[in-house]
Amino acid sequence: MVADNLGVVLHEKNDVRMEALPMPQAGAGEVVVAMDTVGICGSDVSYVTKGRIGDFVLRKPMVLGHEASGVVHALGEGVTSLEVGDRVAIEPGVPCRRCEHCKHGTYNLCADVFFCATPPDDDNLCRFYKHAADFCHRLPASVLLEEGALMEPLSVGVHACRRAGITAGQRVLVCGAGPIGLVNLLVARAMGATEVVVTDISAGRLELAARLGAQHTLLVDSKDAEALAGRVAELLGGRQPDVTIECSGAEASIRLGIFAARSGGMMVLVGLGPAEVTVPIVNAAVREVDIRGIFGYANCYPAAIQLVEAGLVDVKPLITHRFHLEQSVQAFETARTGAGGAVKVLIKCGEQ
Ligand code: NAD
Ligand code: ZN
Repeated sequence: MVADNLGVVLHEKNDVRMEALPMPQAGAGEVVVAMDTVGICGSDVSYVTKGRIGDFVLRKPMVLGHEASGVVHALGEGVTSLEVGDRVAIEPGVPCRRCEHCKHGTYNLCADVFFCATPPDDDNLCRFYKHAADFCHRLPASVLLEEGALMEPLSVGVHACRRAGITAGQRVLVCGAGPIGLVNLLVARAMGATEVVVTDISAGRLELAARLGAQHTLLVDSKDAEALAGRVAELLGGRQPDVTIECSGAEASIRLGIFAARSGGMMVLVGLGPAEVTVPIVNAAVREVDIRGIFGYANCYPAAIQLVEAGLVDVKPLITHRFHLEQSVQAFETARTGAGGAVKVLIKCGEQ
């Protein structure tokens, strides 16, 4: 049994250090988790390279990581939903539970949320970490701990596809084939989308999208969004997508998404790029293309886990790299550069 705690701490941008950390103690309603796997997300890379994402600015050292799974190591007072030894996926955002949003169930919109590795909140790229027990989701025996770490991005896909209202038989356009675009492809297929077109500017990422079940891929090789929208419709046999899920944040891609959408269709903005962009808003308005944002997820972990347990979604092909906790700097570098075709880079937190 590993006795000491060790974590990956970001001191300021480009200053990542391995450090001994205090052993966490579970308070009431909390559990201590022996961490198993933490996936690196684009946001972690932004904090490492820029020290900020928009208004979230690193002002004091912070433990990195938020796409995580582990094994329950100790129970705090009053915890009855979990037992020591349970394998769990950790839902990183713990809301206040008291505000209007929390009471409505849209707790992703809570303004008083603890969110792992979003300044100033710490955690969980370390050996031992404590978390609210009700935001630790038990994994069924057939779901691997590595898959458990991927329940975080998969939950983004569940939330986006729910907000998109995807139903059986629909045609879907997914813009951007990074991890988030790919999980949206997987969930859209599982929810019954029959034809999915995925776009990207990288041929390698489109190859993976095709392997994961996209019937059509479109390499974005032009800035002419209207012409590209025509090519999307061609790929769909002359029909336009019912739903567009934009997962790149690029202005050109949002423009394409709107032009491509069928009249009366739906466009969900998942990608977060520049704060302000120019888009064909009148085109969307007069064709009644609904535009919706998403922020994280609420009540999506259970569905994400069940999709994997039922074999309706396989997230394993997204995993391209694995590193030990002690190799975290190298892991972040791999995620940042995309070296070796990196898509999802995992860090294993147990002893080597
Ligand atoms: P990523 O950078 O790995 O993937 C983005 C992909 O988009 C890349 O493959 C890139 O080549 C591609 N791309 C760039 N320009 C493009 C264009 N013009 N057309 C088509 N594809 C293009 O990032 P990711 O981890 O997959 O995340 C995707 C986006 O989702 C990011 O903007 C991230 O901030 C956002 N995100 C939002 C939420 C939310 O709650 N709204 C949650 C997670 C991630
Ligand atoms: Zn709240």
